[in-house]
Amino acid sequence: MKIFAVGWNYLDHNKEMNHALLPKEPVLFLKPDTAILKDGKPFFLPSFSERIEYETELVVRISRLGKNVATRFARRYYDAVTVGIDFTARDLQSRLRAEGAPWEISKGFDGSAVVGEFVPVAEAGDDLQDLHFSLQIDGTTVQRGHTADMIFPIDEIIAYISRFYTLRTGDLLFTGTPQGVGPVSIGNRLQGFLGERKLLDFHVR
Ligand code: MG
Repeated sequence: MKIFAVGWNYLDHNKEMNHALLPKEPVLFLKPDTAILKDGKPFFLPSFSERIEYETELVVRISRLGKNVATRFARRYYDAVTVGIDFTARDLQSRLRAEGAPWEISKGFDGSAVVGEFVPVAEAGDDLQDLHFSLQIDGTTVQRGHTADMIFPIDEIIAYISRFYTLRTGDLLFTGTPQGVGPVSIGNRLQGFLGERKLLDFHVR
């Protein structure tokens, strides 16, 4: 399976990262399947970074094979959503970006794609572009997002991805993070919510 992720999909986050430009097309990257962390398993802070940051994102699960999918049919290609964390080695990413090098290793390392319990699309709400999600660390809310603020809505991202990559059942899409990213430390408990519903709960070790 493949893990797709979109960068720079919320303007307020782009501003906090001093990246104020509105992208013309979705900024796409992939993580390997070894990045997946699920079932509430702990995330172990890697030794190669001094600053691992959380990025709380709505995650969409692909449910059928697709290629060159039109935006208006994209809804047929996913069946469930959850809240996830796109862990990022920010120090490594900053250095690689400055060098103009691919920042893959800062985003695709083991455990960097945390996913919560999936909820069928029909249960998640009438409109996936009107969902609120949030992250608590040790009981304090540190990040809130509203999917209405996405620069590229889910269906446009799916259509875009499928121009380049064949979609397969079980592939995942991280849809970008809103404002409020920050570092994690050993001992933190991270809890992710879709609306009021807790879908994600794990510790940093
Ligand atoms: Mg992200």
